[in-house]
Amino acid sequence: MKLKIAWLYRDLMSTYGDRGNIICLTQRCQIRHIDVEVKNITLETSVKELNKCDVIFMGGAQDRQQKLAGGDFLKNKGPVIKKMVEENIPSLFVCAAYQAVGHYYRPYKGADIPGPGILDLTTKHLGDQAKRLIGDISAEIINIKELNGKTIVGFENHGGRTSLGAKLKPFAKVIKGFGNNGEDGYEGAVYKNAIGSYFHGPILSKNPHLADWLIGCALEIKYQKDVELEPLDDELEWKAHDFMLKRL
Ligand code: GLN
Repeated sequence: MKLKIAWLYRDLMSTYGDRGNIICLTQRCQIRHIDVEVKNITLETSVKELNKCDVIFMGGAQDRQQKLAGGDFLKNKGPVIKKMVEENIPSLFVCAAYQAVGHYYRPYKGADIPGPGILDLTTKHLGDQAKRLIGDISAEIINIKELNGKTIVGFENHGGRTSLGAKLKPFAKVIKGFGNNGEDGYEGAVYKNAIGSYFHGPILSKNPHLADWLIGCALEIKYQKDVELEPLDDELEWKAHDFMLKRL
């Protein structure tokens, strides 16, 4: 089997080590002899390159890079990705990417950055009125059937506060940390097979169950059949996961 991963704006939106998610996904495929190709989708890349991609990933960034990517994402890449998300293509949007897939992101300074509304959410950076939401974070997944009740651990670093639309479900319930806005106790969002999350770390390195969920989803959609992934030796990943859970 083969998977093609679309990695959006790797040159602009990978400030917080989120490229590690691409490493996790490719390694976990290769160990299982699943051919995997990573398509770097930059500002210059034609949207046609997104066709036939089986997984979508976009990482975190500072406000400046979000602005640089914002126009292309709104006009070109975003509408195509919106269609792919509606077709259940598994997607992971981390932090700035999570903010970018909403209706708009209000940055620390300057005009709102409009988004394609892939997820029904809005985000506002409260400038100097409020501290940045930074630190280790743990949460319990609550809106993914195959993962509900499982924990995720990571690191967050965002000034933006995200509000979910009435019908948009949160990804997880915060155990320790801030999450979407430091107020409602939720983290991230889930819509079909798309996940938005504030978790850096990168998120997939200490949460192998989430990495495998994305891979399994992609294979099942692509090959239209049930897929049972061969279990991997994740002793180290779970040791790191449980260490962080206990430490928090
Ligand atoms: N620049 C955005 C914020 O500060 C996102 C930061 C990030 O991607 N970690 O909220």
